[in-house]
Amino acid sequence: MEKILVVGYGIAGLCIARQLEKRQVDYHVIDNGFKNASSKVAAGMWNPIGFKRLTKSWKVDELLPYAQSFYSEFDEALSEKITYRHDLIRFFSSIEEENTWHEKLDDPRFKTYISSEKNAHIENLKPHLNPPYNYGKVHHAGRVDIPNLLSLSKDRLIEKGSISQGLFNYSDLICQDGFWLYGGNQYTGVIFCEGHQVLKNPYFKYLPIRPNKGEVFVLRIPGLDLNCVINRGFFILPLGNDLFKIGATFNSRDHSYEPTQSGLNWLKQKMESLVNLPYELVAHQSGIRPTTPDRKPMAGRHSEHLNLFLFNGLGAKGIYLAPKLSEYLIRYIFDKEVLPSEIDISRYEKWDSPNL
Ligand SMILES: Cc1cc2nc3c(=O)[nH]c(=O)nc-3n(C[C@H](O)[C@H](O)[C@H](O)COP(=O)(O)OP(=O)(O)OC[C@H]3O[C@@H](n4cnc5c(N)ncnc54)[C@H](O)[C@@H]3O)c2cc1C
Repeated sequence: MEKILVVGYGIAGLCIARQLEKRQVDYHVIDNGFKNASSKVAAGMWNPIGFKRLTKSWKVDELLPYAQSFYSEFDEALSEKITYRHDLIRFFSSIEEENTWHEKLDDPRFKTYISSEKNAHIENLKPHLNPPYNYGKVHHAGRVDIPNLLSLSKDRLIEKGSISQGLFNYSDLICQDGFWLYGGNQYTGVIFCEGHQVLKNPYFKYLPIRPNKGEVFVLRIPGLDLNCVINRGFFILPLGNDLFKIGATFNSRDHSYEPTQSGLNWLKQKMESLVNLPYELVAHQSGIRPTTPDRKPMAGRHSEHLNLFLFNGLGAKGIYLAPKLSEYLIRYIFDKEVLPSEIDISRYEKWDSPNL
């Protein structure tokens, strides 16, 4: 009988575990609860639009509906509200951006995702916002309460005895007669989902995962009445009870784990450029994103150890990517379906990075 070991329980490990459950494949998870894991601090938002060049997010028409229904299943299964749908308001950073936005309104590929409709909350807030005021609306955005999802689903795994909390020790993994032995148990395969910590994994550390530190802040802002997310090169996400998550910084050079003073300065500058209401800092967190040179996730099989697999490289957009891509990997493993070449780790087999 199949039994899979899943190493890491961030959003990647959670999605893999759920896919295994759907197929009724037995599994066990090991996770060391690293406090700066990306999933622990993620804002959990999905957004179908990339604002840098005003493009649709990669494969969004396929991946987003799947992700939305995937996460909604947890609302029911965990008897808790995990997913939230809301609009996202993009304040334009320039006249050029505003013009491009208006051009895209006529493009059928963007029709379901963007509009120039007004948002009543934003209109009422104008006395508390600094110009420029012009904005567009992104539809079909939303968020998943990731900390809650991870913690509640982990409790379920604890109840079932399906998770060990602690560090996975690579040297204790032994291959014998086509199986993997770990902690006295036998597994038919191991799926590694360690985020940026894969760089310590002797089997997969050759892959060019690039840690990228992100800082987020929770602020109390009395008087900021929002029913949507605001984006103006940074985001303001309403959490309820006057609390807002603000973020996020991107830093690929700082390899420390702790929040920084420069992160705080960034926050102050961003907030004061947009909102003229007093705020109080409630929390300041940092996490490490597992990014890749080509900005595409990584999934696949080790080239020599055929029952070792990896799911990683979710970068800054793991929330909408992980559900469907985890399904691709599980179908690859169990149904021998071909992985999309953009995510297959075989693209890095002969890769030689000058920065590694
Ligand atoms: C500030 C910030 C904001 C973000 N906001 C968003 C957002 O709004 N929307 C979005 O889509 N994405 C967002 N992201 C990105 C998102 O967080 C990542 O894409 C995603 O969480 C990566 O998940 P992961 O499971 O691959 O890695 P991780 O979250 O790092 O999880 C890896 C897990 O593996 C465990 N682990 C690792 N090694 C071992 C070992 N040897 N033994 C045992 N356990 C181990 C760790 O403890 C951890 O629990 C954000 C990231 C940051 C930093």
